[in-house]
Amino acid sequence: MVLSQLGGKITNALKKMANSTVIDESQNFGIIYGNKVDLANMDSGTNKRKIIKQVVFDELCKLVDPGVEPFKPVKGKPNIIMFVGLQGSGKTTTCSKMAYYYKNKGWKTSLVCADTFRAGAYDQLKQNATKAGVSFYGSYTESDPVKAAKDGVTNFTIQDYEIIIVDTSGRHKQEKELFQEMKQISDVIKPNNVVFVMDGSIGQSAYDQALAFHSTVPVGSVIITKLDVKHTKGGGALSAVAATKSPIIFFGSGEHIYDLELFDVKSFVGRLLGYGDFRQLFDKIQDSGIEDKAELYEKMIERGDITLRDMYEQYKALQKMGPMDKIMELIPGFNADLLPKGSGEESQVRIHKYMCIMDSMTNKELDNPKLFDQNSGRISRVARGSGHSITVVKQMLEEHKRFSKVFGAMLKKMKGSKRGGMPNMNQL
Ligand code: GDP
Ligand code: MG
Repeated sequence: MVLSQLGGKITNALKKMANSTVIDESQNFGIIYGNKVDLANMDSGTNKRKIIKQVVFDELCKLVDPGVEPFKPVKGKPNIIMFVGLQGSGKTTTCSKMAYYYKNKGWKTSLVCADTFRAGAYDQLKQNATKAGVSFYGSYTESDPVKAAKDGVTNFTIQDYEIIIVDTSGRHKQEKELFQEMKQISDVIKPNNVVFVMDGSIGQSAYDQALAFHSTVPVGSVIITKLDVKHTKGGGALSAVAATKSPIIFFGSGEHIYDLELFDVKSFVGRLLGYGDFRQLFDKIQDSGIEDKAELYEKMIERGDITLRDMYEQYKALQKMGPMDKIMELIPGFNADLLPKGSGEESQVRIHKYMCIMDSMTNKELDNPKLFDQNSGRISRVARGSGHSITVVKQMLEEHKRFSKVFGAMLKKMKGSKRGGMPNMNQL
């Protein structure tokens, strides 16, 4: 194991503790910057950049994967799929692509136009339906979108269509009215799946936008469009998933009817990271000084234990690095909204408190925390000196104990089986 990996492990275990989270006691894991990594599968030459990239990669994969099975239509029944999203996001184009996709898979498929507002909506969808080779329902004269949707769905349901896709209009009115209309349509046609379509180029507003739709109609799937457009990162996808708790099922990769691709979490995140300013991320981590603690780790391994002083050094590095949400912000498309509110700051405050307490300890105590077990007067003295209560001092000592229990065993194991060295950050 590379020593700096150990450093990362310890630092982050500390951070987790500061957040009062439970630590996994199994041996084959590492916690680096708050994330678990499988150290068993990493050879000793694995460099830090790779590890961090892997951690960030895994974390982002978790964010675009809500852990919900995507909607699966049922054969031989009408599956009503309603499309929602802002005007211009790509609803009409995408629902046509989806109709084409299902038709090619042998489903009896149809498209319903419920956009009675925008001039040309009817023609656009009708032409697309012809291109896709699927049936179409729409009306030139009907001005009520709810009625148009209902009539279309009824029409295809009685003809035993299996996939009935309903295209709705975007933001042509005041937002409130649009959402009202969307809800009325949904109440009447009772869709089996609501697909939220989002333009891949939108950034920070993605979360609020997705949430607004989801709180009006229960979104079940997300499609991100225009990922083929140059410089489109698609980072808003993370927010859309977080806000709707729904999986991304497809992404749009062009204007043609066949430009629809199945969404794959890993390749999407890989692509997203291609835009990341990783140099900055590494610089920040390197600045924290975690890498320069070879000597400290050597000593810990030698002793087979972690003292309060070791803990202090790790806290110092953590403080320098700043809250996790600030670090994650260096990743494109990442939005601090995706992290639990205040968690970063809370742990910083706790760390600060614990460091103050340790500042009031003697060198002897820092090197030998057992002294506190033998004499409770020491705890009162440190509490007084640091301006914190006895409870907080005890809490800190408890954390140290839990921490040294978990890592002490590992350090003992490492003694005698040391291999590898500190990676050279310049090579990263
Ligand atoms: P709607 O208002 O939500 O129905 O959006 P439209 O389906 O009318 O699409 C708006 C514009 O985006 C059109 O010019 C589409 O051709 C374009 N568009 C939709 N999806 C994609 C895509 O995946 N890639 C590209 N390049 N353009 C797209
Ligand atoms: Mg449209």
